[in-house]
Amino acid sequence: MSKKISDQTFICSFCGYPEGEVDFLVEGNEAYICDNCVARASDIVNENARNSVYGFTFNLHTPKEIKRMLDEHIIGQELAKQSVAVAVYNHYKRIQTRYDKSDVEIEKSNILLVGPTGTGKTLIAKTLAKLLNVPFAIADATVLTEAGYVGEDVENILVRLFQAAEYDVDRAEMGIIYIDEMDKIARKEGNPSITRDVSGEGVQQALLKMLEGTKANIPPKGGRKHPEQPLVTIDTSNILFICGGAFQGLEDIIEKRVSGGGIGFVREIKTKLEDSHLFSKTQSEDLQKYGYIPELIGRLPVISPLEELSEEAMLSILTNPKNALIKQYQKLFELENVHLEFTPKALQEIVKKAKVRKTGARALRSILENTMLEIMFEVPSIDDIDTCIITEDVILQKGKPIYKLLRQSA
Ligand code: ADP
Repeated sequence: MSKKISDQTFICSFCGYPEGEVDFLVEGNEAYICDNCVARASDIVNENARNSVYGFTFNLHTPKEIKRMLDEHIIGQELAKQSVAVAVYNHYKRIQTRYDKSDVEIEKSNILLVGPTGTGKTLIAKTLAKLLNVPFAIADATVLTEAGYVGEDVENILVRLFQAAEYDVDRAEMGIIYIDEMDKIARKEGNPSITRDVSGEGVQQALLKMLEGTKANIPPKGGRKHPEQPLVTIDTSNILFICGGAFQGLEDIIEKRVSGGGIGFVREIKTKLEDSHLFSKTQSEDLQKYGYIPELIGRLPVISPLEELSEEAMLSILTNPKNALIKQYQKLFELENVHLEFTPKALQEIVKKAKVRKTGARALRSILENTMLEIMFEVPSIDDIDTCIITEDVILQKGKPIYKLLRQSA
């Protein structure tokens, strides 16, 4: 393979430029590379090195890119998406600069997502893990207990992350852990328990250790530790913790502080939506009043509020995100060669029904599943079906879908 185009002229084997049009060519084994291509290759190598720690590559994007990617999956929640994007970006920058000889050490920015149930907290954490290409585990704070008590040790969360990282310690040490129902481990007065410390300082202290960064010895397959079982050591100092919860009652604490005293008549006429606006004013002292030890709050420096979803947002959740529920059903029907349509009024009716349940967007799925079950049972047995139209009557359980047959639509 000679890259000589005439007796005198050599060309770069990468960009094809002849030697006269570049500064210089480096000769290799039957190949040449010009100075421009060397520089470009060097950039690629550096970029890869920056995005790779311990030889493992993750996808580092700018905060704007992260936000844009979150936008594809999560409707609304602008403030939460923005602060999460910045926190995650800084977190991975921090990992990259670990070996820099600088006096400045960037502290980890674990995140606390505060907002009503079904508004996208878990979805944000899950989507992040996917787009960053890092292992991800979800844990429920309500089942956690102090080591030695009946229940799940805090360290078991790490077991799940280790499993998600396919038993690769290095990968696990850069993962993301989402701790749900964080509000349930706030200290509550007058609730002592001798067998199980579910709502007390014990669990908070154990979590604190993980959030701060500790070297935890875990049984790789989970369960209780046995003296004869070899343990795996996981360093949690680079694991990003995202904690989330509905924090019912926190809005009252915030309002009391903001209004500088009593809560009375003004409070009563406030709507739920205004409550979630209050969450954006959360300060560490409010969380301390809610029942957290100050050290734990200190380890959750980024507090991101999520808002109650409006009807408009719910409507958009049904149809717009990449993986929207309606799109999923349409895909299922497509596999049967059937077009599935929802009338605008049907969609509105789904949202109305969901709003009543007060479980955010979570209700959308169960309402749709209930509605679609019988239809999906019937459709594959109807011959020549071309289109299935879901009207509001179907959602209200007052009528059947409209089926258009192939002959009719031709
Ligand atoms: P939580 O806030 O309780 O963690 P989730 O993130 O688990 O709620 O949301 C439950 C489901 O509702 C998600 O799987 C998703 O389908 C939908 N959902 C909730 N909020 C949003 C949102 N803002 N954008 C898009 N989908 C959402």
